[in-house]
Amino acid sequence: MTSIESKRVQYRKYLERAGVIDALSKALIKLYEEQNKPEDAIRFVRKFMCESCPDDAQYDVMKNDLEEAKTHISKLEQELERLRGQIKKSPEEYQELTTAGYKSLMDDEENVNSLLRKYLTPELLEEFMLVTTPAPVDAYLYDCAVAGFEHHEAPVGIYAADADSYDVFNKLFDPIIKDYHGQMDNENDVLQKDPDFGNVDEIENLDPERKYILSARIRLARNIEGLPFFPKLSEKQFIEVEEKVRSATETMDGELIGSYLTMADIDAETQAEMVKRHILFQRGDEQLTTAGCYRFWPTGRGVYHNPAETFLIWVNRQDHVHIMSMAQCGDLGDVYNRLVNGLAELEKTLTFARHPRYGNLTACPTNLGTTLRASVHIRLPLLSKDPDRLIALAEELQLQVRGTDGGELATVEDGVMDISNKRKLGFTEFELVKTLQDGVVALINAEEELEIAGQEGLETNTANIKF
Ligand code: ADP
Ligand code: MG
Repeated sequence: MTSIESKRVQYRKYLERAGVIDALSKALIKLYEEQNKPEDAIRFVRKFMCESCPDDAQYDVMKNDLEEAKTHISKLEQELERLRGQIKKSPEEYQELTTAGYKSLMDDEENVNSLLRKYLTPELLEEFMLVTTPAPVDAYLYDCAVAGFEHHEAPVGIYAADADSYDVFNKLFDPIIKDYHGQMDNENDVLQKDPDFGNVDEIENLDPERKYILSARIRLARNIEGLPFFPKLSEKQFIEVEEKVRSATETMDGELIGSYLTMADIDAETQAEMVKRHILFQRGDEQLTTAGCYRFWPTGRGVYHNPAETFLIWVNRQDHVHIMSMAQCGDLGDVYNRLVNGLAELEKTLTFARHPRYGNLTACPTNLGTTLRASVHIRLPLLSKDPDRLIALAEELQLQVRGTDGGELATVEDGVMDISNKRKLGFTEFELVKTLQDGVVALINAEEELEIAGQEGLETNTANIKF
């Protein structure tokens, strides 16, 4: 058979299988049997072929049924997720999972950079595999390390399942923390100084002419003492956190007065729009999913904010609360002042977990210490034409450059970047905010120098630079 013939045969088979030949034949027979042949034969055939099609009313009913079925499926999926979240593993299962997870991490020769891989020796694994944090949480090493076992590319690979994890598994957490936070030679008992928000008045508006900075934000993370962190929060405890925060916000005063919205009451469209405006969070990456961050979603999740959207509290995003102050300009002083007041208000009612060595405790070891990330969204069109120089400059200034959608390696759009303090542990809150202030001032100066040097206009495309 020639290839055209064989294609023809295949096509014919396909038409038969799909019932097309049958339907067309029936229509033609019907037309043949018709005594008074219609003028418009095509119309006749079309009408005949559509006899079994639903009319508009039927179509609406079917569409409705489909929507209902989809809602039902999503409820069942949520229920399944809930039930999965309640399954308790036996020590034998933990042992098996830990051994297999560790083996797959160590056997992977392509992804060798995670701190979990670097510091979890076979000896430590043996020592801690069946150790748990105190009841009733009973977190195993596996509960902390599961994300790193499954996602070998994770830079750190471990989360604390509760405050005690940092002590019970200290032989593993401590070197990871010291490595990540650049404290390798630091043998002091205390890595994090006492909280010190310093003199708020020394922090200023970094861009009064609104030329470069689009917005400024400072956030802190906190976990309520006595409750586990997200990997081991029960469904009830997710709600308990939300209730505690909600009632703590009821006494807010002045510009901090706002209202609390629980995630389940915000429709999907509004959620997306709020995320875009940077005032709401959504589910995050695979690593956090594996670590259990989104169990029982959207239960217990929500946001408190004032009408101006300059003071916000995210509930159960990762840590129990992320406290944020923002401004749609470069007034870092205003932002800082509001943040300090907001935290003080919350602390009147809530006690947050603190560690004598690590300061404020967070589930992710990278956030420990002050937990403070002060950032600006800033447009530096000339500097950002030379990403290498910009990154080197930022490094020198102890700053980190990111994309504006919250991703660590996100694409920079329109030359707008997220610039923030790189360090979180080992310095006071004031020192870190001052670092951002000094650094941003230096970057703006560098940008202005380029403007003066008249180098603008040499290259125009600043979009899509990858950091
Ligand atoms: P964090 O870990 O500090 O909470 P993320 O990078 O995860 O920060 O970002 C959380 C959200 O906050 C994102 O929507 C991000 O765009 C927004 N954000 C961060 N810094 C700023 C800023 N200076 N201005 C406006 N939005 C910001
Ligand atoms: Mg983040």
